[in-house]
Amino acid sequence: PVGPARASGADGPRPARVGILTSGGDSQGMNAAVRAVVRTTLTLGGEAFAVHEGWAGAVAGGAQIRQLGWDDVAGVLHRGGTVLGTARCAEFRDRAGRRAAAGNLVRRGIDRLVVIGGDGSLRGAEELRREWPTLLDELVASGEVSGHDRLSHPRLRVAGLVGSIDNDMAGTEMTIGADSALHRICAALDGLRSTAASHQRTFVVEVMGRHCGYLALMAAVAGGADAALVPEAPPAEGWQDLLVRRLQASRAAGLRDLIVIVAEGAVDRLGRPVRSADVGTLLTERLGGEGSRVTVLGHVQRGGRPSAYDRWMPTLLGHAAAQEVLGDGDLPAVVVGVRSNRVTLTPLPEAVRAVDAVREAAEKGDFDVARAARGRSFATLSASLEDLCTPPGLLGAVGEERPTAATALVGGASTGGQGPGGGDGAQPVPRARRVGVLHAGGPAPGMNAVVRALVRSAAVGGTRVVGVVGSVPALVSGPVRELGWAEVDDWIDLPGAELGSRRTVLRAEDAGRVAATVAEHRLDALVLVGGIEAYRSAAVLDAAAAQHPALRLPTVCLPAAIDNNLPGTDLSVGADTALNTVVEALDRLRSSASAARRCFVVETMGGPCGYLPMMAGMAAGAERVYLPEDRITIHRLARDAGQMTEAFAGDRTQWLAIRGDQSSASYTADVLARIFEQEGGDLFDVRQTVLGHVQQGGVPTPFDRLLATRLAQVALAEVDRRLAAGQSGACLVGEVGGRPTVTPIDRLEVELDDRADRPRRQWWLELRTVHERVGGRAARA
Ligand code: ATP
Repeated sequence: PVGPARASGADGPRPARVGILTSGGDSQGMNAAVRAVVRTTLTLGGEAFAVHEGWAGAVAGGAQIRQLGWDDVAGVLHRGGTVLGTARCAEFRDRAGRRAAAGNLVRRGIDRLVVIGGDGSLRGAEELRREWPTLLDELVASGEVSGHDRLSHPRLRVAGLVGSIDNDMAGTEMTIGADSALHRICAALDGLRSTAASHQRTFVVEVMGRHCGYLALMAAVAGGADAALVPEAPPAEGWQDLLVRRLQASRAAGLRDLIVIVAEGAVDRLGRPVRSADVGTLLTERLGGEGSRVTVLGHVQRGGRPSAYDRWMPTLLGHAAAQEVLGDGDLPAVVVGVRSNRVTLTPLPEAVRAVDAVREAAEKGDFDVARAARGRSFATLSASLEDLCTPPGLLGAVGEERPTAATALVGGASTGGQGPGGGDGAQPVPRARRVGVLHAGGPAPGMNAVVRALVRSAAVGGTRVVGVVGSVPALVSGPVRELGWAEVDDWIDLPGAELGSRRTVLRAEDAGRVAATVAEHRLDALVLVGGIEAYRSAAVLDAAAAQHPALRLPTVCLPAAIDNNLPGTDLSVGADTALNTVVEALDRLRSSASAARRCFVVETMGGPCGYLPMMAGMAAGAERVYLPEDRITIHRLARDAGQMTEAFAGDRTQWLAIRGDQSSASYTADVLARIFEQEGGDLFDVRQTVLGHVQQGGVPTPFDRLLATRLAQVALAEVDRRLAAGQSGACLVGEVGGRPTVTPIDRLEVELDDRADRPRRQWWLELRTVHERVGGRAARA
């Protein structure tokens, strides 16, 4: 338990005061961070103050610094931009400006700050922290601050959260806003693709990223683009010819829509800017046909509602940042960041130095250093993009040639996909092989994107992918057909599962017929994409291999299930899309009742796993979540009903309770709604909503497309490795802690909770505390 956050003032202990500000360019998700900082501070016994308009508000003081209560940050989660306002402030760059800011803060008793902004804003925070004692000395000397205030606030504690759509800061894997910006970009690319296909036109799309090509790269992979040009990885000399050749070959392969992404700060090897307009002119001149069109996406990328990730991730970070500044001791300022969904703390000076190093290297033309500083995922993503975009005509004879650094448009992209050992391109070129792919389990958005990535990445090694059309029954009796490189082009954003998916587990007695299918179609390996049904079917095949020699082949399971209930991976393909669908629905529900006093009881899918209701509760600001992992008891319901009634008796107008569909056999959504209705009397009304199958549909989110691509490459690398080693057997691929992992199938039942079909270890369960402190009203009492 955390004790009340107290600062020792000269007149004894009093609540610690935390200032919070958003500065620099705005980004979606800043509000979620603000809300979490405020509520965590209050929950831990401190007091929270808004500093409006960024550093300008700190310098101006007065009404720009205002105390915030719990309800002041209600209803902000779904809003884009920042409710605190932001600005760029030239005065704060000077010591005089920072002295004014220090005076305004210390006179309000604020000596802890959470700053949300880009690297500039965080540099400012570190400056202020370092100078704080001497600034206060000056203020005491000039009589602007009392000696008493000086003594009570000897140091400033600072935590920084990176709010920036560019994802250009060290100390965090994802910046607040980058995921939402990707949502905007992908929606635009999906739209452009259909018009481009109609006219056989080429679109050049400029995305934000002055120094960092991360957004451009991710958008190119997730948006199904055909090439990308980025600042820190310029293409080889003569890239214009390379680009034209690639697009011509793509068109010859049958693509009707071609898209080239250009980051706003893209340069060539000599550091000369590569502008989207120039790329457009080049392609119009050299490609012929209907020519090309240039679209500059501009500020729409910053706009609009935050994605589900940009609500729960900043909530997690805001919670950690408030805890950090409420601690004691003279610590350096930290960047509170995220890596593989876990909070990380990096000393701010170290993070700033890392950013400077990348910029300096890029400016000096030392692109290898710049790229290396971006980390592994940048390299992996570059390699993935080159693999996915290289049309068969440029690959040479089957299995003979792979794209190389010299032919890559993303400079230095070593190809060869992403194996558990890393995308180092050292894999031997496999002989032409045939890999069968099928789905099993409930449909999950992104299944098509998995198949697309399998087909495209396999083509680079000369391997053909054969689709088993109709899930497990088709594995028994067909149909089975080869999938074409161009055919799967638009599968990147296609909802549903083109190959079909059923909740059928293979029966042991059908294994012999599967062996016949495998032999007939000369399959060297199988990839089963889907949920627990896929995994159990693979286990059946594995067990039958002793009896049927044709089944002695590598069988790889790839997690795709909206419930996120699979072992061997932190996340499965489709869960992020389902979460976004739920959160959008909850936004609509909330707005439907803006004039009423209403409690909503909403049932989500998720089955035995509480991931979907839990994360939806975090992202939508639910007051309560009921998970299958926790027992619902009559005592708990009585307490919740009491707190709900108390809240509505005050000025509360809404209460959102989310229930996973398998949370309790007896306390159904209907029972919960009736209990709350009965207890509420005339104070509020209750509505229940079962969201149902909309959660399995929809266009996959950028994250699910990227995850689909990464996991497909892990699966292929594992197939290659096993074939090269002459090793058969079944395994599960996944990502744990951001690393690709392979788990033998015999771990399946060990890693599953035997009473419930869900993994024994679920990383996200730790977030319950965060939700209770930030969302649950009980925590405040
Ligand atoms: P974005 O990534 O969206 O550009 P940013 O935070 O990097 O956001 P900047 O314009 O660089 O945006 O910085 C925002 C504000 O932070 C500046 O207007 C200034 O007030 C302050 N600031 C930036 N750099 C420094 C610095 N080196 N020292 C003091 N203050 C700074």
